[in-house]
This record gives sequence, C-alpha cells and structure tokens, in this order.
Amino acid sequence: MDLSQRLANLQKQCAAAPGVQPRLLAVSKTVPARTLRAAYALGLRHFGENYLQEALAKQAELADLDIQWHFIGRIQRNKTQAIAEHFQWVESVDRLLIAERLHAARGDLPPLNCLIEVAISGEASKGGVAPAEVLPLARAMTALPGLRLRGLMALANPDPQLAPQDFAAMARLYGQLQEQLPSAGIDTLSMGTSGDYPLAIAAGATEIRIGTALFGARA
Ligand SMILES: *Cc1c(COP(=O)(O)O)cnc(C)c1O
Repeated sequence: MDLSQRLANLQKQCAAAPGVQPRLLAVSKTVPARTLRAAYALGLRHFGENYLQEALAKQAELADLDIQWHFIGRIQRNKTQAIAEHFQWVESVDRLLIAERLHAARGDLPPLNCLIEVAISGEASKGGVAPAEVLPLARAMTALPGLRLRGLMALANPDPQLAPQDFAAMARLYGQLQEQLPSAGIDTLSMGTSGDYPLAIAAGATEIRIGTALFGARA
C-alpha cells in the first residue's frame, strides 16, 4: 500500500466513527519533509512532531504550506520558548511550570492550543499527569491567557487487553473536564495510535495520532 491508500483506509475508519468524526494527526517524527509535503498534497493539515530540532528543520522546509504543527513529545523547560513560538498545538503539557512558561513565551501570538497529557496506563516510563491531577492543572491553565486548554491526550497501555479500559477512563475524565469547566471550550480528546486506534475511535477519540500506519515503519 502507498501513502494515499493508507490514508484512504484511515479516513474511512474515521468517517465510520460512532460519534464525532476524529481528526487524523499525522505523526511525522523521523519522516522526511518531502513525505510530509506529499501527505499535505493528499489533504492532511495536522502534523505531530516529538523532537524540537527535527521539527524546526521541517517547518523551515515546509514554510510555504499551511500546516498546523502539534508538539507531542516530552517538553524540557529550556525548550518552551521555541515550542511556544513554532507550534499551534502542544499536546504533552504535564506540569504547571511548563504551562506557565509556554504562556509567558507566547507573547502577542494567539493563544496556544494545549492538551494535558494523562498518564492513564500508570506506566512510569510514560509522561503525563496522574488522573487525579488533571482537574487542578486544568483549572490553573485556564487562568493563563497565553494558552487555550482544548482537552486531553494519552497513550494507552500497549497491551490490547488493557487498552480499552484506558480509553474508557480517558473518555470519563474528558467528560468530567467538560462538566467542570463548561466555558473553557474543551473539545479535544487525543488518543489512539497505529496499534490501537480502532479501540480509541470506538471510545470517543476526537483525534487519533497515527505514524506507522500512515508513513510505514520508522527507520
Ligand atoms: C510516535 C507517537 C505516536 C504515533 O505512533 P505510531 O505507533 O507510529 O502510530 C503517537 N503519539 C505519540 C505521543 C507518539 O510519540
């Protein structure tokens, strides 16, 4: 299968979602800029990158395109300035210090779309805040005008037996967030990757983050 066939297959599954049709975020870490350009030509507009330097190089090469760049990797505090300046979305906010620095760095730019990353599977190796920390962090973030809190992001347990309960827990947390912060405009639940996106779509994801199922295996 080539890129256009893989994309058509993913789009078909998004279109068949039971509720809101999820957006496809093309996760393009390690993928060369010319391939992003080909994906853009097929209609993709949202791209997710994990590593700042790699992303900046591609952004420079693709500056003629109208791409929405999402930062989805671990955020080091000394990278917050550049991330705030060069991305439209940050999906991996995992502590207030990082949120405050992103807010301060945003300056006169429109508010930065942010998701709180949740450590839903409880695996210590993964980033994110504990579920109990989500609401306090969300409340604090809504007080920062440089940011626009849009929702939650998570990686589920890689074990397909355990992933469904993680997705269900995320959907509950997302519902609670919308209920507790009714005027915040919470509209994004980003979950599901190449290995588990059908389960995430079934559980109510509004965005799936797809790398290998779109671009092929990473080198
Ligand atoms: C790499 C990555 C993905 C995409 O993973 P695939 O299995 O290649 O689809 C999604 N989310 C995050 C946070 C990632 O780092």
